[in-house]
Amino acid sequence: MIIDSHTHIYPDSVAEKAIRTIIGNTNGCLDAYTGGTYNNLLTSMDDAGIDISIVLTVATNPEQGKGILQWIKKMINLSPRMIYFGSVHPYDPDNKSIIKEIKELGIQGLKFHPAYQHFPADSKEAYKVYDEALRNDLILYFHSGFDLSMPESVYASIERFANILKDFEGSKIILAHAGGIGEWDKILDLFSDKKCYYDTSFVLEELMINEHAKALYRQNEDYFIFGTDNPWRDQKKYVDLIRNSGFFNQEQKDKILYKNISKLIKIPSC
Ligand SMILES: [Zn+2]
Repeated sequence: MIIDSHTHIYPDSVAEKAIRTIIGNTNGCLDAYTGGTYNNLLTSMDDAGIDISIVLTVATNPEQGKGILQWIKKMINLSPRMIYFGSVHPYDPDNKSIIKEIKELGIQGLKFHPAYQHFPADSKEAYKVYDEALRNDLILYFHSGFDLSMPESVYASIERFANILKDFEGSKIILAHAGGIGEWDKILDLFSDKKCYYDTSFVLEELMINEHAKALYRQNEDYFIFGTDNPWRDQKKYVDLIRNSGFFNQEQKDKILYKNISKLIKIPSC
């Protein structure tokens, strides 16, 4: 069993434009490995031997949460191999009712990307939304740290996430990119005594060779989950990196590929 905890797809009609815009924002530093549609993701999963993907959405402005929810409603029954996370914007005055509807639909979590969404991750408004989501037993999935496409933003800094982990201790929190790309030594100091889940997207290569990253992994072996951020990373390459790795033993590979995330989310039978 392999579960990719971090993927994105876009409605067919806008996928091409969405991909082009994001690549443009990174000045070409990013490649797309699929066209970003539902069918593209399914094909990629089949090629990589991935059973289930968690599809993360982001409401980049306060008006988008409702529309994303409508789209998820259309997509959610197409395949048991996709698990959708919803998104709300902290500045959306209707965020409480959207969270309620998300919960009623059986959605298990919310994705936040404070840089894309333009709010400080540890602000008062954001905390209210996290509280409401946690009251509804939803998982909080965060982009954490520097983002290639928004290098100037400090809204998702790892220092802010250190505050969140302290203030929401014991909550169901996943940090993408193992907490932050390329800031391993600081992350080790800031996060290591607090428990949250870390995904491997964008950092898997470094995780196996960087001394600070390896130390973070060793302290959190039961909390690392497989995520690719497809279409921005190649699912098959990531699966092969783990399968062929001499750094992880077989039990550690199983924990990363599905056992750890299975403790956190309900897996539908495929
Ligand atoms: Zn992502």
